[in-house]
Amino acid sequence: MTKGKLLYEGKAKKVFETEDPSLLIVSYKDDATAFNGEKKGTIVGKGVVNNRTSNLLMHYLEKKGVPTHFVEELNDRETVVKRVEIVPLEVIVRNISAGSFAHRYGTAEGIVFDTPTLEFSYKNDALGDPLINEYHIIALKLATREELDTIRDYAFRVDKELQAFWSARGITLVDFKLEFGRLADGTVILADEISPDTCRLWDSKTQKKLDKDRFRRDLGGVEEAYLEILDRVTAKDAE
Ligand code: 5GP
Repeated sequence: MTKGKLLYEGKAKKVFETEDPSLLIVSYKDDATAFNGEKKGTIVGKGVVNNRTSNLLMHYLEKKGVPTHFVEELNDRETVVKRVEIVPLEVIVRNISAGSFAHRYGTAEGIVFDTPTLEFSYKNDALGDPLINEYHIIALKLATREELDTIRDYAFRVDKELQAFWSARGITLVDFKLEFGRLADGTVILADEISPDTCRLWDSKTQKKLDKDRFRRDLGGVEEAYLEILDRVTAKDAE
């Protein structure tokens, strides 16, 4: 598999065409942004951690019955994925209050919910990724009712499986963001990445944050936290 034309360069990844029109190569960068691009920086080694972590998690989820775009890891930073048309939604599942939830509703961080919550944001940088409800998603034709039903079902299954995965590694899955895409035949599959950039991961014993909040909030020890996640993901063979 060889890299062809650069198709897209985002904040954290580059995407290249390949000789196969149904496959793309994703290349993970060390660049980090937060607050809709207002804060910029570099997290040395992040691309390697996110590539490996995301691939292991996608492989794990695939085995648990959630279809994903993952095809094959090429090297430290590059992976072959299925080409999809991204559904322009951030699908956010929360098990514990934190981040924008705690801010919006004026609650403390760390309140454990009885059942997980689900929310959607409209992926639109110019608008700052606003929250959006299911009626508005359908009105704007961002996804159909059937697609939303599938996405909701997969999102909660991912939560259940990943809570178990992380818990076995001494980590609490606080919340996370997923993105989905459509294959050429319209099948909806999990796309983008699942990594410390897109999840809140707290050490189960100490509650230490082991994710991008260390960068967002200038907590220090950012690189160490990412490496800690890679260590824990790889130390125990992914089931
Ligand atoms: P919050 O809405 O509290 O800021 O984020 C909830 C969860 O979704 C966190 O795990 C956060 O990392 C993830 N998330 C939300 N929006 C984005 C985004 O634009 N980029 C990334 N990488 N993660 C996001």
